[in-house]
Amino acid sequence: MFTISVARLKNAPAEQRRYLLSGGVEPFPGPGGELVRILAPVELDLSVTNAGDFLWAVGEVSATVGLSCSRCIGEYTARTTGRFEEKYRLHGGADEEGNEIPYAADEIDFTEHVIESLVLSLPMKPLCKENCLGLCQYCGQDLNTGDCSCRVDKGDPRLSVLKDLFTGKEGGGGGGGTEK
Ligand SMILES: [Zn+2]
Ligand SMILES: [Zn+2]
Repeated sequence: MFTISVARLKNAPAEQRRYLLSGGVEPFPGPGGELVRILAPVELDLSVTNAGDFLWAVGEVSATVGLSCSRCIGEYTARTTGRFEEKYRLHGGADEEGNEIPYAADEIDFTEHVIESLVLSLPMKPLCKENCLGLCQYCGQDLNTGDCSCRVDKGDPRLSVLKDLFTGKEGGGGGGGTEK
């Protein structure tokens, strides 16, 4: 799917070709370790240049991914774009800086680089929205959909003390002075 033939480009110095590719990608682990699902075909806008000693490939990757929010664990959909640059040598064994680069075969598969660039484009801690309230740490209620009662009780210690006092008085049967 992300494989192109460069057999002719390899023999065409200074030439540049552009390839618009798309395809499916299996779910893969994101930067936080959680599984990332691809919800629509991944698009790759690739340009490959014959730079004389090597082929120079630049890819722009866009995908619609399904992530789970790190606060409320809810599933949400996000659009993400990644980028990669790779060199494939035509002659010699290394580039100008002496870095080893792979030999350019007649066909090059970019799938690995597509996935890698997507992983790099994703957040370490995905959030369904900037101000996601997350889950109540006591009862697990999704606080985006409404407050739970334990949050009010335990969230503000002062309220809880007042409530205890009040119920204490009532329990004593005296009737509070504040009652009207
Ligand atoms: Zn969330
Ligand atoms: Zn709660």
